[in-house]
Amino acid sequence: MKKFRANVLTLFPEVFPGYLGHSNAGKALDRGDWSLNVVNIRDFAQDKHNRVDDTPFGGGAGMLLKCDVLGRALDSVVGEDFVSQNNGVENKGEEVIQSGKQKVYYFSPRGKVLNQRLVEDISKQEEATFVCGHYEGVDQRFLDYYDIEEISIGDYVLSGGELPCQVLLDSVVRLLDGVIDSPVSHQEESFGIADGNLLEYPHYTRPVEWKGMGVPEVLRSGHHKKISDWQLEEAEKITKKNRPDLWNKYKKIDKS
Ligand code: SAM
Repeated sequence: MKKFRANVLTLFPEVFPGYLGHSNAGKALDRGDWSLNVVNIRDFAQDKHNRVDDTPFGGGAGMLLKCDVLGRALDSVVGEDFVSQNNGVENKGEEVIQSGKQKVYYFSPRGKVLNQRLVEDISKQEEATFVCGHYEGVDQRFLDYYDIEEISIGDYVLSGGELPCQVLLDSVVRLLDGVIDSPVSHQEESFGIADGNLLEYPHYTRPVEWKGMGVPEVLRSGHHKKISDWQLEEAEKITKKNRPDLWNKYKKIDKS
């Protein structure tokens, strides 16, 4: 069975595994289905004050994580020849898997917004490295030198990359073989059907009556075709209402 290894560079190593030590990800971590290698960026500071940050050229508020410190921290994980070895390899999805190279990601509000397709791509890799930013971010040269892909978890600003990292790793680990009891559920979840453009339909369980509210009759009919038609209709309704962006893509596919 393929295992997944996550390397995480952070100023706050004590917050890992955090949530990832619980539930599905935690059980999988205990079983060794995946492993977590947490690296303290501060261990790679070299001045007497253990400084990891400095003021930005050109002014502006806040501090930046220094590229030399981050570079040493990353080299300790990927090796000093990482850049020359990756030279010429298009550092994306499938190619990374075929070439056995690993990819490095940096969490940033200006990155590509995380979605289930990117989660699937990362879950197919054997190893990936994640850099958690802090302060105002990192020196751009660090990202350019290592050809690092930036990932955002949404259009809002957090204080650090540690929560985004746990969000991403939880979503990746639950796709690994054996982590979730029934893998077929991945295809039935939100973003799993219609090329990822439909949200999930509503679910109901016992009791059949609660606060005067019942369960849609069709779900108790035992009629599989009617049930799946109802589920599709509900998935379409909720997607149209909550995610017009997905709905428009879904309608285009539907017509083609
Ligand atoms: N100055 C940055 C900007 O305007 O884009 C924001 C820096 S933020 C205060 C500090 C760190 O938190 C970032 O370097 C990043 O690692 C992380 N972070 C904040 N919001 C994030 C988001 N929406 N997605 C991913 N990472 C985020």
